Formats: sequence, structure tokens, C-alpha cells
Amino acid sequence: MIASGKFDGLIMEASLLDTSSQMILGSGWDPKMILWLFVSLRLGQMAVERFLSTLNRSYYSSADRQAQARELLGISVEDMGKTLTYSNDKFIFSRVAGTLSLAGTLAFLIVGGLGRLEAVAKYWSQNTFDSDLVTGLYFFGLLGAVSSIFSLPFDYYRTFVLEQKHGFNRQTRKGFLIDRLKGLAIAVVLGGPILSLLLWLIQVAGTWWWLYAWIAVSAFSILTAWLYPTFLAPLFNKFTPVTDEALKNGIELLAKKVGFRTAGISIMDASQRSSHGNAYFTGVFGKKRIVLFDTLVQAMAPSQVVAVLAHELGHFKLHHVRWALIRGVLATGFIFYLLSLCLPMTIFYQSFGLNGVTAYGALVVFSLWFGILDFALQPIGNAISRRNEFAADQFASDHIGNSQELGSALLKLRETSAGMPLSHPLFSAFYHSHPPLLERLLALGYTRDKVQPMTVSPS
Ligand SMILES: [Zn+2]
Repeated sequence: MIASGKFDGLIMEASLLDTSSQMILGSGWDPKMILWLFVSLRLGQMAVERFLSTLNRSYYSSADRQAQARELLGISVEDMGKTLTYSNDKFIFSRVAGTLSLAGTLAFLIVGGLGRLEAVAKYWSQNTFDSDLVTGLYFFGLLGAVSSIFSLPFDYYRTFVLEQKHGFNRQTRKGFLIDRLKGLAIAVVLGGPILSLLLWLIQVAGTWWWLYAWIAVSAFSILTAWLYPTFLAPLFNKFTPVTDEALKNGIELLAKKVGFRTAGISIMDASQRSSHGNAYFTGVFGKKRIVLFDTLVQAMAPSQVVAVLAHELGHFKLHHVRWALIRGVLATGFIFYLLSLCLPMTIFYQSFGLNGVTAYGALVVFSLWFGILDFALQPIGNAISRRNEFAADQFASDHIGNSQELGSALLKLRETSAGMPLSHPLFSAFYHSHPPLLERLLALGYTRDKVQPMTVSPS
């Protein structure tokens, strides 16, 4: 139990609910058992992940299914071979990286790594601004440093070995380093204040802290979304207006037809990092800015870019974007409420080698536990997302007047990123926010032989 005057609210809740946590867990639990329960559940999660990825690999590797997909989608034998090699390389990479990072995380937790970081943070805090809030900030700083050092080699390998080998990487080592430094600066400038506010609320706001934290974090994410196009995105990329007349006219016609108020169309220099293509629109209130990756514009005909955009506008017009925001806000509230219930359970802190109940400890300890819950709930969010993708595809095909443009654009996107067009349904259920290409094209009723001319009519 902690004994700091600044934690009055916490201590009261801790002593109140510690008995109730005993009631929930039953008696006879000690911190070691909680630790090993966590380790077992994480290993169980890894077993499920491995089972799913192996199942998926044997599904897409089947010669029959490959031949069928090639036939239906018009993919050459050579191209399918490339796709298969890329998929297998990614499979091996994620297996090795996944195993090493889980082993690292569990080893760190088992030897009481969190407790050691806490001791260092406390020592630094005592020698500077002696407060629990500052200890928390040092603690998160140290944790961030440890996890970045651990994940850096994997990021580096993915960019400069895996993606490089398959011809997708366009980034230089200097660019890679600069991106990370900018990311760190943003984490400190934006993440620092919101983290401080959160730690402070947990400490002083009493029983209802979770409600204030919910409001604060939701407001912060809306603020970030609002700042993103104007202040954050330009730190990483250059944006230039669309100059191609055919493309510009096609987009403006579509925006008008769909009733989308646009604040301009920009092309983003995504090609400085990777050759994978995409399109999105940004803006929180009022007019939205449409952003196209230069890689998309280079790889496709204007009519195909317009079709991809029609799909994106479908997400907007069918309120997918608004509902995703609402779901996100509700989920944040639920998580904070859950955290407020778990916060006083001292035994969970002790199991990871921490001294006792602290605001920063709670954020770390329970996010580790919630990670397991999140994995189990993942199929729900992905099912909603995949359903929305089909709806947006349908929206695009209705508003363009045919399904051929979007179908050929999706095929082109697959080709430029060597995406595997098929996937085991169970693997998709867990991991895919987008349905496999084969399913999308079948749902669209796309037939590759019947290529139609561009038809974005103002009617
Ligand atoms: Zn979509």
C-alpha cells in the first residue's frame, strides 16, 4: 500500500476496493500467481496467433486456390509467384519478430523490469521535482526508451531488408532516422501534456476521475485530428495541389454528385517512403481535404483514382467515419471505467514488481491486461470494418455507374503492393479490417474481360 499524502483519494479507494478485489479473485492469490497467470494467457494468445497464421499460409499456398484466383483476377503466374514469396517472407518475419518481442516483454516483466524502471524514475524525481506526477513522466519516458530500443532493429529490418528485397522501400537511412526523431518530438510535445493531465486526474479527481479522463482524452483526440492536416502531416510529407486536369475534373464531378464539400485536393509525396498506394480525406468539421498518394496517381489512370476516391467518399457518406469516431469515444469511456475498477488492486502492481498503487503503474499494468482482452475482441471491430468496406465498394460502383473502374483499380493496387488476394476466413475474422480482394471483387460482380470506358457522368 502506498503512503503518500498526494494519494489521499487513491488510498481510500485502494483500501475500500482491495477487499472487494479479494472477493472477486477469491483468497489465496499471491503476486507470483498473478504474474504467471498473465504469462500463461500471453503465451496462449501467441499459440492462437500462430495457429491462425499457419492456417492462413497453408490456405493461400494451395496450388488449386492460387490457380483459381489467378484465373478469376487475371493475375499472371509470375506475378502470383512474386506475391507468394512476399507473403511468405512477411510470414517468417512476423513469426520471428513476434516471438522475440514477446520473449523480450515477458522476460522484462518476470525479472521485475517495471519495478526497476520505477526505482530509477523515483530516484530522478527525488533529485529534481519531487512529485508523483514527475515520477510518472520519468517512468513513461524510460519505458518509451526501452521499448523503442527494442523495436528499432525490427523496424529497420522490415524497411531495409524485407521491403527493400521486394522493391517497395523508397526510404533512405537518413530519412528513417529523421522520421523517428520527429515522431519522438511529437510524442513529447503532444503526448507529454495529455499524459500529465491523465496522471493528475487519476491522483486528485477521486472516484469520478475516469469520467474526467474520458472527456479529456476524447477532446484531445478530436483536437489532434483537427491539427493533423494543418500542422502534423506537413512535418512528414509535402502536399501539392493536383495539376492533372482530367483527374481534377473527375474528382470535382464526383464530389459534386456525391454532395461532398471539398476544401481542395492534394497529392502527397508518399513515394519518398514506400511504393504502396492509398488515398484519404482529412478534416474534422466542415469541409474536408482530399489527399491522394502520389504512388496511387502514378500507378493508375485518372478514372481509376476517381473510383478509389468514390470508395473513400462512400465511407464518409454512409457515416462510417462518424460511427467509428463514436465507437472510439465509447470504447475509451468503457476502458477508463474498467481501469477505475481495477486501479486499487494492489496485487496486480506487485505481480509486475511495482511498489504499489500509482497512477502511472495503473496505466501500464492494466494496459498489458487489456491487451489480451483487446485481442479477444478484435474480430468484432474487424467484422464491422469489413462490412463497411463492402458497403463503400457498393457506394462507389453505384455512383460511378459501373464496377469495372473500382475493380480494376483494386487489382492495380494489389499488383503494386503484391497483396495476397485470398485468405482463410478465420484469419480474416481476426486480423483483416478489409476483406480479401477476391471476395471484394466477387461482391462487386467484377468481370475482368468486360472493361468499360470511364463514365463519371454528372447526372
Ligand atoms: Zn475502405
